[in-house]
Amino acid sequence: MTATIIDGKAVAAEFVGGLEHRVTACTGKGVTPTLAVVLVGDDPASAVYVRNKEKKAAQLGIDARDHRLPAETTTEALLALVGTLNADPNVDGILVQLPLPPAVDEQAVLLAVSPDKDVDGFHPTNLGRLVVGAPSFVPCTPQGCMRLLASAGVDPKGKRALVVGRSTIVGKPVAHLLLSAHATVTIAHSRTQDLAAEVARAEIVIAAVGRPKFIEGAWLAKGAAVIDVGINRLDTGKLCGDVDFESAVERVGAITPVPGGVGPMTIACLMGNVVVAAERRAGLSSAP
Ligand code: NDP
Repeated sequence: MTATIIDGKAVAAEFVGGLEHRVTACTGKGVTPTLAVVLVGDDPASAVYVRNKEKKAAQLGIDARDHRLPAETTTEALLALVGTLNADPNVDGILVQLPLPPAVDEQAVLLAVSPDKDVDGFHPTNLGRLVVGAPSFVPCTPQGCMRLLASAGVDPKGKRALVVGRSTIVGKPVAHLLLSAHATVTIAHSRTQDLAAEVARAEIVIAAVGRPKFIEGAWLAKGAAVIDVGINRLDTGKLCGDVDFESAVERVGAITPVPGGVGPMTIACLMGNVVVAAERRAGLSSAP
């Protein structure tokens, strides 16, 4: 079987291309879509993520405002900054890059972001809306997974979907999106007995574990659609996903590569969420 390799870069470029006229419509109403980016400390991976997000924003005409703070920033100082950004009528979206330094109360900071500016979709209000099927800002990586499935012509309706991983930022929200799309959803985690058997039953597999090549090709059902969220760095310096791509590609119907799969979609969907927020400010949308 020859699997379709889902090209996340191409799907992301097409999605971002579709945002251009919406940005123009906002600026036509005097609203420049604006994203405030808060980066605390000097974690090199976070710095790369933030740079990539800002580069993509600049390409689209989104104003990305940088707030770089030292690692010793206190929770109180961060809460004050978030309060200022919440109150700034010219800021559409607020992104607090995770992880925050261990001394900072991450939950308190994420809770402080106004749900109306929570373009990451991490606030409990937005996660709650997702669960009741009235989403406001859909978290970027889960949203990207769904767009990638759609791009490969995979309709989750009636299919058995397995999500491996139950984090609040990936596993749980993507499971709810699959449920909303009428899949029969199973969520596996570290206490799951016989993961291989769960994988073998699934027509759609979303892998979000954070362990290199953890899901073996031989476990996967023939023709399954596989979205690999994992980003793992091998000792060789190369990146790989949570699925053993080489053995999986022989069996599955469609699969995302790492890199070049989910990663580009996450940034693209973030831009989409900023545009949604700006459209509200510009009076171009009445969505919640
Ligand atoms: P977390 O560490 O928060 O969650 C990992 C999940 O994997 C947990 O739910 C854990 O279960 C589960 N798990 C661990 N061991 C096993 C096992 N043996 N069998 C089954 N499940 C297991 O990770 P994230 O969700 O934040 O991220 C997952 C991966 O996705 C990482 O590689 C991360 O880098 C990547 N990622 C990529 C993004 C992108 O843009 N492409 C964005 C976000 C993340 P339990 O809950 O029981 O501990």
